[in-house]
Amino acid sequence: MATLQAICADITTLPLDAIVNAANSSLLGGGGVDGAIHRAAGRQLVEECRRLNGCKTGQAKLTAAYALPCRHVIHTVGPVWQDGRHGEPQLLAACYRNSLLLAHTHALKSIAFPGISTGVYRFPKDEAARIAVDSVRMTLQECPGIETITFCCFSDQDLTFYQNLL
Ligand code: ADP
Repeated sequence: MATLQAICADITTLPLDAIVNAANSSLLGGGGVDGAIHRAAGRQLVEECRRLNGCKTGQAKLTAAYALPCRHVIHTVGPVWQDGRHGEPQLLAACYRNSLLLAHTHALKSIAFPGISTGVYRFPKDEAARIAVDSVRMTLQECPGIETITFCCFSDQDLTFYQNLL
């Protein structure tokens, strides 16, 4: 069974098999973690992303990582929070699930996730953390080769939500 851990870090610094990007549906870059990943990866990342023709909410696509210290970037598009009654929980769970299934397909063993949708997409952070951990635990049963999952938080408060769940 894989190890699940939560840390507080800049996800762009992690030398893992893959980091997950909380992208928007264009995959052409944005603010927050998406902007940080594109800045650290360099221009070649947006050039590869342009050839992918976007990504639907809840889906995931894989690219190279260019100047980043990780090997791949998995781009997933989280739901914009409205009121929780527009499928947001199911779509957020799908982001974690589809990212892990893609990592498994590519035989990746170490993957870090940011708090998808918890920035400008306004998903409540405590509920998002619970969905993230539940979805990862469920999906890992289908992904025997995956060894470590890192929930990469960006503040100490975000970290406490995960520490209470792990
Ligand atoms: P979304 O549009 O999916 O809400 P954001 O990038 O606005 O995405 O925020 C997602 C989460 O990523 C937020 O919790 C934010 O604090 C966090 N974040 C921002 N920059 C980084 C980074 N460099 N490393 C890890 N997490 C980050």
